[in-house]
Amino acid sequence: MSEPFATQKKISPILLAILLIILLLSVFSIFLGFDAYLSGDAESGSTYMILGATTLALSSYVLFLTRKRILKLALTTQPVTTTILCEKCGLKNVRDFQRGDYIFKDMEPCPKCKEKMLITSIYSEVKEKRRK
Ligand SMILES: [Zn+2]
Repeated sequence: MSEPFATQKKISPILLAILLIILLLSVFSIFLGFDAYLSGDAESGSTYMILGATTLALSSYVLFLTRKRILKLALTTQPVTTTILCEKCGLKNVRDFQRGDYIFKDMEPCPKCKEKMLITSIYSEVKEKRRK
């Protein structure tokens, strides 16, 4: 698929790395909890386990949210529109952006006056969904 305009990446790799570290730490603390349990220290064992489970749940929740946002970003590709104008009679033709379109490119002759038409604008429509 062609990407005429670069989509902004809002999720930083640093954030993902931090989340991954937290995830690993929580798994590690669950292991520590197990270890404490096995060696007879039930109290610190359960503390470690609760701590580990909570951070695991939290970080996976954030990761889930981030992933959802990535998916949403990937799915909502903004439509790019090209406007073709006949300078002689003013006939305007709006269609989807096609590969190779650029501003002031000569297009096919005008169906009305047979004058060459020009691309006058290329723009992307940003459709923002508002939450109620
Ligand atoms: Zn025309």
